[in-house]
Amino acid sequence: MAATTPMMEQYLRIKADYEDAFLFFRLGDFYEMFYDDAKKAAKELEITLTARGKGEDRIPMCGVPYHSAEHYIAQLIEKGYKVAICEQTEDPAMAKGVVRREVVQIITPGTVMEGQAIHDNENNYLLSITPFEGEEIGLAAVDMTTGEFKVTILTDFEELINEMTGYRPKEVIIPSSLDVEKQQTFEARLKVTLSYEDHTEPVTEAVALVETLSEGKIKETCYQLIRYLQRTTKRSLEHLQQAVYYLPQEYMSMDAHSKRNLELVETLIDKKKQGSLLWVLDQTETAMGARMLKQWIERPLLNKQTIENRHELVDKLIQHFFQRESLQEQLQGVYDLERLSGRVAFGNVNGRDLIQLKKSLEKIPEIFNTLHELNSSYANSLMQNISDCSELRDLLETSIEENCPVSITEGGIIKDRYSDQLDDYRDAMRNGKAWIAALEKQEKEITGIRSLKVGFNKVFGYYIEVTKANLSQLPEGRYERKQTLTNAERFITEDLKEKEALILEAEEKSGKLEYELFMAIREQVKAFIRPLQQLANVISIFDVLQSFAEVAERHRYVKPELKPAGNVDIREGRHPVVEKMIDEGDYVANDIVLGDDRELLLITGPNMAGKSTYMRQLALISVMAQTGCYVPATHAELPIFDQIFTRIGAADDLAHGQSTFMVEMLETKHAVSKSTRNSLILLDEIGRGTSTYDGMSLAQAIIEYIHDEIGAKTLFSTHYHELTHLENDLPKLKNVHVSAKEENGTVVFLHKVVDGAADRSYGIYVAELAELPDKLINRAKVILAEFEKEQSDIQAHRLKVSDEDKESRTSFFQTEATNQPTQLSLFPTDSEKTSAKKDALTKTQKKVLDDLTTLNLLHVSPIEAIQLLDKLQRKLGH
Ligand code: ADP
Repeated sequence: MAATTPMMEQYLRIKADYEDAFLFFRLGDFYEMFYDDAKKAAKELEITLTARGKGEDRIPMCGVPYHSAEHYIAQLIEKGYKVAICEQTEDPAMAKGVVRREVVQIITPGTVMEGQAIHDNENNYLLSITPFEGEEIGLAAVDMTTGEFKVTILTDFEELINEMTGYRPKEVIIPSSLDVEKQQTFEARLKVTLSYEDHTEPVTEAVALVETLSEGKIKETCYQLIRYLQRTTKRSLEHLQQAVYYLPQEYMSMDAHSKRNLELVETLIDKKKQGSLLWVLDQTETAMGARMLKQWIERPLLNKQTIENRHELVDKLIQHFFQRESLQEQLQGVYDLERLSGRVAFGNVNGRDLIQLKKSLEKIPEIFNTLHELNSSYANSLMQNISDCSELRDLLETSIEENCPVSITEGGIIKDRYSDQLDDYRDAMRNGKAWIAALEKQEKEITGIRSLKVGFNKVFGYYIEVTKANLSQLPEGRYERKQTLTNAERFITEDLKEKEALILEAEEKSGKLEYELFMAIREQVKAFIRPLQQLANVISIFDVLQSFAEVAERHRYVKPELKPAGNVDIREGRHPVVEKMIDEGDYVANDIVLGDDRELLLITGPNMAGKSTYMRQLALISVMAQTGCYVPATHAELPIFDQIFTRIGAADDLAHGQSTFMVEMLETKHAVSKSTRNSLILLDEIGRGTSTYDGMSLAQAIIEYIHDEIGAKTLFSTHYHELTHLENDLPKLKNVHVSAKEENGTVVFLHKVVDGAADRSYGIYVAELAELPDKLINRAKVILAEFEKEQSDIQAHRLKVSDEDKESRTSFFQTEATNQPTQLSLFPTDSEKTSAKKDALTKTQKKVLDDLTTLNLLHVSPIEAIQLLDKLQRKLGH
């Protein structure tokens, strides 16, 4: 379509630079969109699609009023789009030809500062990826709303993805040269908006941000992000904190799947907070605390001292109930200091924000006092060298009006006595208004007209109004006639106009002055951004730790004792979430002991007995302990786990359409290749995704590998009862099972984990509980009895063979091979089939075989089967 007008030419020129964004093109009081932007926006925003021009040259168009644009922009951002705001940058009245227009800001999911895309209790991270020669990849993360800025270097792509998942980013910046396949992986696995930035050269204004970083690659990674921010936000980046370099190895590592699966911050299926560990632990009072808690849960620590520092303060807060209560109340009065300082720097803070800031600062001395009373060395060390920003509080106290309006241009923000000049203007206004009030009173008396009044409107200014009915009482020539209405006449006097001029002048000047003063105050506040951010950090820590103390007391948690590389000894441990979801007291507590001669536990037991709850319980207790929280148990000794791997459940993988078994194997590979002696591995029903013998062999090989090669603490649940014999061969493996008992022919789960292997499968009983038809259940029982007999034969044989050459594991595999004919006799091999064919069969035998092969087992009852067997036997002459 041809662009026929100079304005449309201008539009197309600008749009060409912002292909990947909606271009909001300012036209008077509207932002207009054209062509495909218009079509797409009309659909996404449910607004009317119109057209500009006529006939052939019609251009699809839609628009939103500029004063309500924020709402529409937020909607697009929420959906993952970007919006480029193109403003008129010269006064249309002065313009020769088309008004000059420029893009003044690009809003993206990662750079948006407010609106519905920003949630109080969540960070909004923007990530940037910088690949280097070889496998190394730089990762920088920034939260524009809080100023947090972090950077790290990862050694391979899988590690990168795992690290990225922890941030839950909405947008990722990459160089345009990045592999298409990798780009697709980001989009598919992280569901992010991709943005491009190809420059990594230093930015002069941002040198201070990366000052403390030594290495070139780390700086380059930061600069790529900074360059992008400069290009899109086109504003100062003053509120960004100095970039902090961290090593992923400082934190317990969990791959994306494990984090999701353990439901640390949201549930697996519904993605809800309720039902997650975060839900149990979150008793924070501030949004900053809530965000920090979430970060902590996703990144448990490895440093014993730091973890114990947290435990120490939690301990003090539990012991000092009254101080904890005061602290909670005081924290309730603290607003989001982090985001407030972000807005100060970004230049969109208003009077009310500053009042919130002041009120928060008023609470700080009280909070510090409360904490000093606890005598906690950790709390004291945090408060040391932290400014309570009292100067800022004083400044705001003297300058900003408590009940100021949201708008910063209408006055009413600055307090009296802050500025002499402003006080003078205000006096003039007040005096003038008092004079006018007195005038009204005086004229009423003189004229005797009780309804006479002095009014004001924007067009005529102040006037004296007399109703038509009273006009006759007015002495001729007392006032000057100004305006005639249907029912009244409006007048002015010389003096009134003089006062009016004074009032209006004072008003205008005071409005202007207030604005200037406000801007100056805002600048002064900017100087406090760093101390404010430090203060916010400390307050958030206090908030999270009081939350831990609160939860620990409510749910009777205990302080875990950490012994790096030590054993696990949990007494009466509970699963924090399951415990909270079921009726109080119904949870069956379980011990977990791991170490020395029991590093791997092979857990058997019926479905729904509580195997995976038991496994998750250990993982969650470890995460909690290393986050600085107390744990649900009566006693807990724990090592510091460097990594947790879980392979539990598969519901979410199915949703992604990947082959479950392949995913299972990929993740198992991840677990066995990355884990160390100090890791925790949880494998649930590995091998279930393939055929029985295939799966069982794999499961056994995995267990042996972990046992012999890794030595990681491992819980392995399985329904292959055959695997329980491994206890005989692997010295560090112990069988445990979740007990269940039969009562009146049905099964009752006790949820109690006890040593030893489960003795039978309760699958049929579960089926019975589910009320499958009696006939079917009975049939299953018959089949089970058959299989069990078969199994015990195999077992006897295997034991015999494995007794013969117990020396090496390799030979064990050989014995498996020797076993094959026995096992596979259920399913004849090809060669067996052929040889069977070769054997000469009598006609009757053939007939019997035919009958057997064509028999549809699903359609025969046990009785019918027995009758049939009887008939066939008789045919064969038995
Ligand atoms: P499995 O993995 O053996 O199939 P789950 O661990 O999924 O079984 O547990 C099934 C259900 O049993 C859980 O949803 C939970 O409600 C309940 N449960 C599990 N363990 C316990 C326990 N220790 N105390 C009380 N209820 C439990």
